Amino acid sequence: MSREDYEAVIGLEVHAELSTKTKIFCSCANEFGGEPNTNICPVCTAMPGALPVLNEKVVEYAVKAGLATNCSISKDSKNDRKNYFYPDTPKAYQISQYDKPLCENGHVEIETSDGNKKVIRIERIHIEDDAGKLNHDDFGGESLVDLNRAGVPLIETVSKPDMRSAEEAEQYLRKLKSIFEYIEVSDCKMQEGSLRADVNVSVRKKGDPLGTRTEMKNMNSFRSIVRAINYEIERQIDLIEDGRTGRARKLKVG
Ligand SMILES: [Zn+2]
Repeated sequence: MSREDYEAVIGLEVHAELSTKTKIFCSCANEFGGEPNTNICPVCTAMPGALPVLNEKVVEYAVKAGLATNCSISKDSKNDRKNYFYPDTPKAYQISQYDKPLCENGHVEIETSDGNKKVIRIERIHIEDDAGKLNHDDFGGESLVDLNRAGVPLIETVSKPDMRSAEEAEQYLRKLKSIFEYIEVSDCKMQEGSLRADVNVSVRKKGDPLGTRTEMKNMNSFRSIVRAINYEIERQIDLIEDGRTGRARKLKVG
Protein backbone atom coordinates (compact mmCIF):
# COMPACT_ATOMS: atom_id res chain seq x y z
CA MET A 1 0.00 0.00 0.00
CA SER A 2 1.16 3.50 -0.63
CA ARG A 3 1.74 5.85 2.27
CA GLU A 4 -1.02 8.11 0.91
CA ASP A 5 -3.54 5.40 1.78
CA TYR A 6 -2.92 6.03 5.47
CA GLU A 7 -4.10 8.83 7.68
CA ALA A 8 -3.00 9.91 11.13
CA VAL A 9 -5.42 10.35 14.00
CA ILE A 10 -4.15 12.81 16.60
CA GLY A 11 -5.53 13.98 19.93
CA LEU A 12 -3.96 16.35 22.45
CA GLU A 13 -4.10 16.64 26.22
CA VAL A 14 -2.89 20.14 27.01
CA HIS A 15 -1.82 21.17 30.50
CA ALA A 16 -1.81 24.88 31.29
CA GLU A 17 -0.64 26.23 34.64
CA LEU A 18 -3.09 28.86 35.85
CA SER A 19 -1.69 32.24 36.79
CA THR A 20 -3.50 32.52 40.11
CA LYS A 21 -1.60 34.22 42.93
CA THR A 22 -1.72 31.13 45.14
CA LYS A 23 -1.74 27.38 44.68
CA ILE A 24 -4.86 25.28 44.15
CA PHE A 25 -5.38 23.89 47.66
CA CYS A 26 -3.27 26.14 49.95
CA SER A 27 -2.18 29.77 50.25
CA CYS A 28 1.44 29.22 49.12
CA ALA A 29 2.59 31.57 46.36
CA ASN A 30 2.23 30.28 42.82
CA GLU A 31 5.54 31.53 41.44
CA PHE A 32 8.07 30.21 38.98
CA GLY A 33 11.79 30.26 39.68
CA GLY A 34 11.99 30.62 43.49
CA GLU A 35 14.70 29.00 45.60
CA PRO A 36 13.85 25.27 45.93
CA ASN A 37 11.28 24.43 48.61
CA THR A 38 10.53 28.00 49.64
CA ASN A 39 6.86 28.14 48.52
CA ILE A 40 5.66 25.12 50.44
CA CYS A 41 3.46 24.29 53.45
CA PRO A 42 1.98 21.23 55.19
CA VAL A 43 -0.80 20.98 52.55
CA CYS A 44 1.33 20.94 49.39
CA THR A 45 3.99 18.77 51.01
CA ALA A 46 1.26 16.32 52.11
CA MET A 47 1.83 16.31 55.84
CA PRO A 48 -0.55 13.94 57.65
CA GLY A 49 -3.79 15.65 58.63
CA ALA A 50 -3.35 18.64 56.30
CA LEU A 51 -6.57 19.40 54.48
CA PRO A 52 -6.86 20.91 51.00
CA VAL A 53 -9.13 23.97 50.56
CA LEU A 54 -10.04 24.70 46.97
CA ASN A 55 -8.92 28.09 45.64
CA GLU A 56 -12.04 29.79 44.21
CA LYS A 57 -9.96 31.59 41.56
CA VAL A 58 -8.97 28.24 40.06
CA VAL A 59 -12.62 27.42 39.41
CA GLU A 60 -13.20 30.93 38.01
CA TYR A 61 -10.22 30.66 35.62
CA ALA A 62 -11.17 27.16 34.50
CA VAL A 63 -14.76 28.26 33.81
CA LYS A 64 -13.41 31.23 31.84
CA ALA A 65 -11.28 28.84 29.77
CA GLY A 66 -14.33 26.64 29.22
CA LEU A 67 -16.52 29.54 28.09
CA ALA A 68 -13.78 30.79 25.73
CA THR A 69 -13.61 27.37 24.08
CA ASN A 70 -17.38 26.91 23.70
CA CYS A 71 -17.71 24.31 26.46
CA SER A 72 -20.77 23.79 28.58
CA ILE A 73 -20.05 24.40 32.25
CA SER A 74 -21.10 21.69 34.68
CA LYS A 75 -23.15 22.86 37.62
CA ASP A 76 -22.32 19.65 39.45
CA SER A 77 -18.59 18.97 39.50
CA LYS A 78 -16.17 17.26 41.88
CA ASN A 79 -12.54 16.35 42.40
CA ASP A 80 -11.12 12.84 42.51
CA ARG A 81 -7.92 11.20 43.62
CA LYS A 82 -5.70 9.71 40.94
CA ASN A 83 -3.38 7.38 42.81
CA TYR A 84 0.15 6.87 41.62
CA PHE A 85 3.54 6.80 43.24
CA TYR A 86 6.21 9.12 41.99
CA PRO A 87 8.89 10.82 44.11
CA ASP A 88 7.85 14.35 43.05
CA THR A 89 4.31 13.79 44.35
CA PRO A 90 4.41 13.59 48.14
CA LYS A 91 0.70 12.74 48.53
CA ALA A 92 1.15 9.70 46.22
CA TYR A 93 -2.00 10.84 44.45
CA GLN A 94 -2.97 13.75 42.28
CA ILE A 95 -6.19 15.65 42.96
CA SER A 96 -7.82 15.73 39.53
CA GLN A 97 -11.31 15.31 38.11
CA TYR A 98 -12.53 12.00 36.76
CA ASP A 99 -16.22 11.67 35.91
CA LYS A 100 -17.45 15.20 36.58
CA PRO A 101 -15.12 17.72 34.96
CA LEU A 102 -15.92 21.44 35.17
CA CYS A 103 -16.22 21.96 31.41
CA GLU A 104 -17.35 19.63 28.62
CA ASN A 105 -18.19 19.46 24.91
CA GLY A 106 -16.43 22.51 23.55
CA HIS A 107 -14.65 23.27 20.30
CA VAL A 108 -12.25 25.71 18.67
CA GLU A 109 -11.74 26.53 15.01
CA ILE A 110 -8.30 26.32 13.42
CA GLU A 111 -6.99 27.45 10.04
CA THR A 112 -4.29 25.54 8.19
CA SER A 113 -1.70 26.97 5.78
CA ASP A 114 -3.87 26.14 2.75
CA GLY A 115 -6.58 28.40 4.16
CA ASN A 116 -8.91 25.58 5.20
CA LYS A 117 -10.88 26.00 8.39
CA LYS A 118 -11.54 23.07 10.65
CA VAL A 119 -13.35 22.56 13.93
CA ILE A 120 -11.47 20.63 16.64
CA ARG A 121 -13.78 19.32 19.34
CA ILE A 122 -12.88 19.54 23.01
CA GLU A 123 -14.04 16.65 25.16
CA ARG A 124 -13.41 18.29 28.53
CA ILE A 125 -11.44 20.75 30.60
CA HIS A 126 -10.73 19.75 34.18
CA ILE A 127 -8.74 21.19 37.08
CA GLU A 128 -5.93 19.40 38.90
CA ASP A 129 -2.76 20.04 40.87
CA ASP A 130 0.73 19.99 39.37
CA ALA A 131 3.49 17.74 40.73
CA GLY A 132 6.80 18.91 42.18
CA LYS A 133 10.02 18.66 40.24
CA LEU A 134 12.97 16.32 40.51
CA ASN A 135 16.38 17.81 39.92
CA HIS A 136 18.76 15.28 38.36
CA ASP A 137 21.84 17.53 38.29
CA ASP A 138 24.95 16.01 39.75
CA PHE A 139 24.44 15.79 43.49
CA GLY A 140 26.85 12.94 44.09
CA GLY A 141 24.55 10.46 42.35
CA GLU A 142 21.40 11.61 44.16
CA SER A 143 18.33 13.42 42.80
CA LEU A 144 16.75 16.23 44.81
CA VAL A 145 13.10 17.22 44.94
CA ASP A 146 11.74 20.77 44.73
CA LEU A 147 8.10 21.05 45.82
CA ASN A 148 7.54 24.70 44.83
CA ARG A 149 5.49 23.46 41.86
CA ALA A 150 3.53 20.89 43.90
CA GLY A 151 -0.02 22.20 44.10
CA VAL A 152 0.27 24.74 41.29
CA PRO A 153 -3.16 24.78 39.61
CA LEU A 154 -3.51 23.23 36.16
CA ILE A 155 -6.28 22.98 33.64
CA GLU A 156 -6.11 19.95 31.38
CA THR A 157 -7.86 20.42 28.03
CA VAL A 158 -8.60 17.11 26.30
CA SER A 159 -9.40 17.23 22.60
CA LYS A 160 -11.27 14.67 20.57
CA PRO A 161 -8.95 12.83 18.11
CA ASP A 162 -9.91 15.28 15.36
CA MET A 163 -6.48 16.25 14.00
CA ARG A 164 -5.01 14.51 10.96
CA SER A 165 -1.55 16.06 10.66
CA ALA A 166 1.23 17.60 12.69
CA GLU A 167 0.28 20.96 11.20
CA GLU A 168 -3.30 20.70 12.48
CA ALA A 169 -2.03 19.71 15.93
CA GLU A 170 0.31 22.71 15.95
CA GLN A 171 -2.45 25.11 14.86
CA TYR A 172 -4.78 23.71 17.53
CA LEU A 173 -2.17 24.19 20.24
CA ARG A 174 -1.40 27.71 19.00
CA LYS A 175 -5.12 28.49 19.12
CA LEU A 176 -5.49 27.25 22.71
CA LYS A 177 -2.37 29.19 23.71
CA SER A 178 -3.66 32.44 22.24
CA ILE A 179 -7.08 32.00 23.88
CA PHE A 180 -5.62 31.26 27.33
CA GLU A 181 -3.22 34.20 27.02
CA TYR A 182 -5.96 36.55 25.87
CA ILE A 183 -8.32 35.73 28.73
CA GLU A 184 -5.31 35.84 31.09
CA VAL A 185 -5.81 32.50 32.78
CA SER A 186 -2.25 31.30 31.99
CA ASP A 187 0.96 32.94 30.82
CA CYS A 188 1.50 29.83 28.62
CA LYS A 189 5.30 30.12 28.82
CA MET A 190 6.29 26.85 27.21
CA GLN A 191 9.96 27.25 28.16
CA GLU A 192 8.92 27.41 31.83
CA GLY A 193 6.55 24.47 31.47
CA SER A 194 3.34 26.46 31.96
CA LEU A 195 1.99 24.95 28.74
CA ARG A 196 2.75 21.33 27.93
CA ALA A 197 1.07 18.74 25.76
CA ASP A 198 0.63 14.99 25.77
CA VAL A 199 0.16 13.90 22.15
CA ASN A 200 -1.71 10.74 21.16
CA VAL A 201 -1.02 9.43 17.67
CA SER A 202 -2.27 6.46 15.72
CA VAL A 203 -2.46 5.71 12.00
CA ARG A 204 -5.04 3.78 10.01
CA LYS A 205 -5.96 3.02 6.45
CA LYS A 206 -8.39 5.75 5.48
CA GLY A 207 -11.88 4.86 6.63
CA ASP A 208 -10.76 2.05 8.96
CA PRO A 209 -11.51 1.99 12.70
CA LEU A 210 -8.96 3.58 15.05
CA GLY A 211 -5.55 1.88 15.21
CA THR A 212 -3.22 1.43 18.19
CA ARG A 213 -2.17 4.72 19.69
CA THR A 214 0.98 5.80 21.39
CA GLU A 215 1.20 8.68 23.79
CA MET A 216 4.12 11.11 23.88
CA LYS A 217 4.08 12.96 27.13
CA ASN A 218 5.04 16.36 28.47
CA MET A 219 6.20 18.10 25.33
CA ASN A 220 6.77 21.82 25.60
CA SER A 221 7.78 23.23 22.23
CA PHE A 222 5.92 23.45 18.92
CA ARG A 223 8.98 22.21 17.07
CA SER A 224 9.40 19.09 19.19
CA ILE A 225 5.69 18.30 18.92
CA VAL A 226 5.68 18.58 15.12
CA ARG A 227 8.86 16.49 14.80
CA ALA A 228 7.59 13.85 17.23
CA ILE A 229 4.25 13.50 15.45
CA ASN A 230 5.82 13.19 11.99
CA TYR A 231 8.35 10.66 13.26
CA GLU A 232 5.64 8.62 14.97
CA ILE A 233 3.38 8.58 11.89
CA GLU A 234 6.22 7.20 9.74
CA ARG A 235 7.22 4.66 12.41
CA GLN A 236 3.68 3.34 12.74
CA ILE A 237 3.14 3.10 8.97
CA ASP A 238 6.40 1.11 8.73
CA LEU A 239 5.14 -1.27 11.42
CA ILE A 240 1.84 -1.86 9.63
CA GLU A 241 3.57 -2.31 6.26
CA ASP A 242 5.80 -4.91 7.93
CA GLY A 243 2.66 -6.78 8.95
CA ARG A 244 3.31 -6.09 12.61
CA THR A 245 -0.08 -4.58 13.45
CA GLY A 246 -1.04 -7.54 15.63
CA ARG A 247 2.00 -7.12 17.80
CA ALA A 248 1.79 -3.37 17.76
CA ARG A 249 -1.81 -3.50 18.98
CA LYS A 250 -0.65 -5.17 22.18
CA LEU A 251 1.89 -2.48 22.85
CA LYS A 252 0.86 0.15 25.31
CA VAL A 253 3.09 3.14 25.51
CA GLY A 254 2.74 5.83 28.16
ZN1 LIG B 1 1.30 25.02 50.25
